[in-house]
Amino acid sequence: MLPGFTRRNVAVRNRASAPTQLIMNVTFHALAAIGIAHMAAIRLESSREGWFYRTDVRVLGSAITLGVLSHGVLDGLKHGYPIQTVPDVLCASVLVICWCLCVHRRFFLLFASVSLASFAPDIVDLGPRMLRFATGTWTPSYSAAPLFPWHWPDGSGSMYAMLSKAPASARILDIGQNRIVSWTNHFIVIAFAAAGIFANPRPFRFLSPPDTPMKKTT
Ligand SMILES: [Zn+2]
Repeated sequence: MLPGFTRRNVAVRNRASAPTQLIMNVTFHALAAIGIAHMAAIRLESSREGWFYRTDVRVLGSAITLGVLSHGVLDGLKHGYPIQTVPDVLCASVLVICWCLCVHRRFFLLFASVSLASFAPDIVDLGPRMLRFATGTWTPSYSAAPLFPWHWPDGSGSMYAMLSKAPASARILDIGQNRIVSWTNHFIVIAFAAAGIFANPRPFRFLSPPDTPMKKTT
């Protein structure tokens, strides 16, 4: 065996590559995307009524890039999993769909694309694996290495309550101050999203933006 590849390490690596591990709860990625989209919406010309103009490309491109990169930052933070997988995916989906329906048509593309960008790394790295897992054809040895470094065991800040799932003591949620650190990091993501929303609430349909023409948008 190669150095470092003891039988225990191999077993740990196999467990760590299970499809629902090494990611942050999707709901928090959705919250980060919403915060980014609200901030980016400041740069869109809200006096226009269409859903897309060529001049939007720079803002959309920057916001989409931030959406993908925010995923890496969140996954790299030390974190546990306060929401179970199925409710998490449902909650994130409902959150994004409702948010996109609550913003003016002018901002719909921005919110939808940034949300999708924030989910993209999980879709790329974990989508095929979860599909195989759901169909019962998944095995740890069958899975290819994830593309994004924050999904690698050493790049992810995932922590687990169960000792059997943790690749190192720093990953055990119930040891030391790990649980407080995890909740602090989750709170930071929520505060980030809230700050973005409060900084620019104009995208909401139910708030009249200062630009008069936007009032005609339905
Ligand atoms: Zn991820």
